[in-house]
Amino acid sequence: MTSAPPTTPRVLVTGASVAGPALAWGLHRAGFDVTLLERSPEQRETGQNVDIRGIGRDVVRRMGLEATILEQLTGEIGTRFVDADGRPVAEFPGEEGQDGPTAEVEILRGVLAQIMVDAVPDGVELRYGDHVVGVAQDATGVDVRLASGASERYDLLLVAEGRSSRTRRLVFAEETEYRDHGVTIAYGTLDRLPDDTDFWDWFTAHRGRVASIRPDNVGSIRASLSFESEPMGFERLPVDAQLTVLRERFRGAGWQSERILDGFAARPDELYAQRMEQVVVSTWSKGRVALLGDAAWGSGPTGMGTTLALVGAHVLAGELARTLTDAGDTPQRAFARYERLLRGYADSAQGMPRNGARMLHPSSRLGVRAIHTMYRVAASRPVRGFFQSHLLTNEKDVPELPDYPLLRAAPDAGVSARAAARPARG
Ligand SMILES: Cc1cc2nc3c(=O)[nH]c(=O)nc-3n(C[C@H](O)[C@H](O)[C@H](O)COP(=O)(O)OP(=O)(O)OC[C@H]3O[C@@H](n4cnc5c(N)ncnc54)[C@H](O)[C@@H]3O)c2cc1C
Repeated sequence: MTSAPPTTPRVLVTGASVAGPALAWGLHRAGFDVTLLERSPEQRETGQNVDIRGIGRDVVRRMGLEATILEQLTGEIGTRFVDADGRPVAEFPGEEGQDGPTAEVEILRGVLAQIMVDAVPDGVELRYGDHVVGVAQDATGVDVRLASGASERYDLLLVAEGRSSRTRRLVFAEETEYRDHGVTIAYGTLDRLPDDTDFWDWFTAHRGRVASIRPDNVGSIRASLSFESEPMGFERLPVDAQLTVLRERFRGAGWQSERILDGFAARPDELYAQRMEQVVVSTWSKGRVALLGDAAWGSGPTGMGTTLALVGAHVLAGELARTLTDAGDTPQRAFARYERLLRGYADSAQGMPRNGARMLHPSSRLGVRAIHTMYRVAASRPVRGFFQSHLLTNEKDVPELPDYPLLRAAPDAGVSARAAARPARG
């Protein structure tokens, strides 16, 4: 490996899921000396279906990864809202060229993250099992202290650590607000049964409960249970306690709830819980530190988190690239351009309507009937297109992606030598 010339700016990117690797990929191509640091001791494989929509699709095309991604979709063919007997109340079939509740690109998060990490060039130092515990910056650089005890100095620190980012808490505590949406959600994996279909089936029960199952492309079924509640710290409970709460809450809910609960108990390592809560940070950068992806604008499952992570990484890398060729430009100006371009888009796409999540979790049987009527109307031919493009996501101010010539790769760009040498996972 050749070491970078002394004038090459050194950048630390934290978090190796979607946003972090996509950013590291772009910064390296632009000419930065990049270290990508992931807190977990190895690449995390868990997570359910995530969507790549709209201009997120343009980003993966520019990265030369679209074909690889399209080969690894979950195979979901549409979304159905079902009653307690599993009969569809309303159906949204997946349609080519249309991103409905089922997007054209549905992929497992762990699979997408691995594709992104595999694309990170060998010149990027990729490190697992460490994280930032202290940050001090001055006019010329950022000193970070790591949990391992190391102290390192970088020109820039770019934080892509997801919704509960610790480094954001260290640097942006006063600028961060959490907007709670009144719903907790737990995801897990089930064994696939012969009767399972390739639809995403969504069941609403009274007392504020929703259960869903959807296919994947690795022979299992991904399920979720969500319920209306005040913030109660469910997502921080040990798995045993989470399962007890879910059993209690979903008792008598009907449909496939018991199967899902049993499946979660059989694979406790795959349980992943989150609060539907939007993180709003009043500024995405401070001096030489900037936030990206869910760490900057995370929300509940809006279907837009992955798209925004990709778009954010592309724009941040592209704007920082300009600072290497324009002597008058600075990282702070690049951060300002990045935020100007994306703030309205990210805030609107991640902003849930007030009480929107609660509305999807009605408390009475009458409320369930009302929501079924709403799904039926939304799925009917005359309004389906309007529903999909105007009501499903709140996104506004969708930016035109600037052209960053350095951030374009050939479709067959392949994977890094590091990825090629990685043993296949079982
Ligand atoms: C394990 C997991 C499972 C998920 N499952 C789902 C799901 O089922 N459905 C869904 O819609 N979304 C899921 N998400 C969220 C989804 O990936 C994001 O909304 C979206 O893709 C944006 O990605 P991101 O890269 O900004 O953040 P994330 O995907 O949240 O990734 C953040 C990364 O940073 C790492 N990290 C955290 N703290 C530190 C630190 N201090 N230092 C270094 N690294 C750190 C994390 O381990 C993770 O790899 C999941 C995320 C994770 C990490």
